[in-house]
Amino acid sequence: MKHGVCRLCLEEAMLQNSHIFPKSVSKPIRGDKGHMLEITGEGRYGTKPRQDGYKEHLLCSACETFCNDEYEKPFNATWQSIAPTNPWKRGQVIQAKVDYVKFKLFHLLNLFRASISTLPELAGVQLGPHEDVLRKMILKGDAGNSQRYAVAGLVLYSQVDGSLLEANFHPKRMLRERRTSYTMFYLNTEWIVLISDGGAEKVRRLALQEDGTLMLTGHPWQQHPIRDEIFSRIADKEVNPSP
Ligand SMILES: [Zn+2]
Repeated sequence: MKHGVCRLCLEEAMLQNSHIFPKSVSKPIRGDKGHMLEITGEGRYGTKPRQDGYKEHLLCSACETFCNDEYEKPFNATWQSIAPTNPWKRGQVIQAKVDYVKFKLFHLLNLFRASISTLPELAGVQLGPHEDVLRKMILKGDAGNSQRYAVAGLVLYSQVDGSLLEANFHPKRMLRERRTSYTMFYLNTEWIVLISDGGAEKVRRLALQEDGTLMLTGHPWQQHPIRDEIFSRIADKEVNPSP
């Protein structure tokens, strides 16, 4: 623990060594020993074990508990019943009713934590003035309307055999129709958050709705803008080597 100002409630407190992304979302790339495998593209297998994912002293213990109880636990419970199963069939769609506020703020919380983090691996996430807007939304449990910081998910699978993409990547800033968005990769899914208002109509149509309607369509990772990165880091390397 370390003394400082909590980045969520802004109170002075002892800060917890917080997970940037909750343990539950790094599961798909955990190895046999429970270590998270970081896809680095280096070494024989292109991976190196990370004991515990990304962590940093960011939040006080009350906020840590709040995030866990309000967002992480409800999200995990929902995801268990709707998560995509291997293999993904072309044209398949997951349609579900979820708790709009908790499901959406779970992803916005992950993006917020990546933005306030000073870890070099997450330097690509810089939300600027949006950071404080998200902070207040998370604290108040206010997810806004469906088009404000719209969140959409695309299940990433291989067009070769339908296998789900079992790798997490660092979040990335992406321009869609010249508007800012961020994309996060976990739970075999690309989670897109639109930052700018308007535009990016394709993503907007897939966004989580205020009545809780969630639609997850699939996208072959071979046709993804970061396919070269995925391919060079995974496709030609054995991600989970057998002992
Ligand atoms: Zn706090």
